[in-house]
Amino acid sequence: MSFDVVAIREQFPILKRQVNGKPLVYLDNAATTQKPQCVIDAMVDYYSNCNSNVHRGAHFLADQATRGFENARDIIQQFINAPKREEVIWTTGTTESINIVANGLRTLLSPGDEVIATEMDHHANLVTWQHACKEAGATLRTVPVNDAGELDQAAYESLLNENTKFVAFPHVSNVLGTINPVKSMTEKAKQVDALVLVDGAQGAAHGWADVQDIGCDFYAFSAHKIYGPMGIGVLWGKESVLENWPVWRTGGEMIATVTLQDATWNVLPYRFEAGTPNVGGAIAMGEAVRWFSALNQDAVLAHENALLAYATEKAQAFEGLTIIGNAINKIGVLSFVLEQGHPADLGFLLDQQGIAIRTGDLCAQPLMSRFNVPGTARASFSIYNTFDDIDALFVALNKAKTMLS
Ligand code: PMP
Repeated sequence: MSFDVVAIREQFPILKRQVNGKPLVYLDNAATTQKPQCVIDAMVDYYSNCNSNVHRGAHFLADQATRGFENARDIIQQFINAPKREEVIWTTGTTESINIVANGLRTLLSPGDEVIATEMDHHANLVTWQHACKEAGATLRTVPVNDAGELDQAAYESLLNENTKFVAFPHVSNVLGTINPVKSMTEKAKQVDALVLVDGAQGAAHGWADVQDIGCDFYAFSAHKIYGPMGIGVLWGKESVLENWPVWRTGGEMIATVTLQDATWNVLPYRFEAGTPNVGGAIAMGEAVRWFSALNQDAVLAHENALLAYATEKAQAFEGLTIIGNAINKIGVLSFVLEQGHPADLGFLLDQQGIAIRTGDLCAQPLMSRFNVPGTARASFSIYNTFDDIDALFVALNKAKTMLS
């Protein structure tokens, strides 16, 4: 299967940059992906040619902006196979999407109710449920992670019971790269009638967000991890669930009628979209998804898997390096620790050589405790990375190791 990585790279202007006098090797894709020119153009075009507020003005630009904005919603609907466009809610990103759900959940939970999250969750999908449970007097339970970095499915099943009202888990771990069995986990939660939210921040980026196939009630993701801009993302929710979900922010657009003492709520999706939305961001997110969806997905996956296999082989042969996360099903994320130095020092020394990785707790402190590490260094691969990038990473790691020894 041919995959023209050179042609892909050509579309990302930032990859031509030098950093610290060295060609940029960008391996921090799980934090955010770079943007192809067409996405940058979509943003510039919006502000250059049709900037206007949506749904409100009876003029040409307002109409054009509204059509672009709503068309982007249709693109997302198709991308995640949502039954209805009204189920696609624009948010500022995964964190806000999860908070919208948690904010409603805390008013629906009672003492004695249980919520399940996991030991591998990003803080965005853990602290939110902690907070909701504390406010409601409900109990938070968490699914443990095994030594390979997979969710312990037997433990998950034993946590589910008639008090379980809500279950949240990540589609893919941002630290370990583990791809979770989201469909079967959802099926199990449904056996006790619990609602399910999938944190799709890392899963959507691979085009795996088929919400009907997964069977979940909510799916949350961000544009910036799928070649789109920052500050825009999506909460998808089943219409039957969203219709009865407590409102989040109040203000313009989310209302139907207002008197001095009272208000009624708008229909979906506007009921959850108070205030002026990020129109340019939504349009550019639509463009990012359109761009990504047009690629041969099998070839993209094969490329990313080949990068991971190559990097894993090199990492295994690297003395003093321990990989954190060895799941059978994983994406192109390589978290590791090096005997010779703290991840933060490693990050600094790699940066000096033009190599961008992420270091620290990766917004997953409980997972760091689980693996008994202060943090990890994480190289995460994307569509535009090459085998040369991985070679450069290991040459730089070697240098860093010598300096730290
Ligand atoms: N969940 C996971 C698994 C993530 O990787 C991230 C981003 N690192 C988030 C949630 C939060 O996403 P955002 O910062 O875009 O809201």
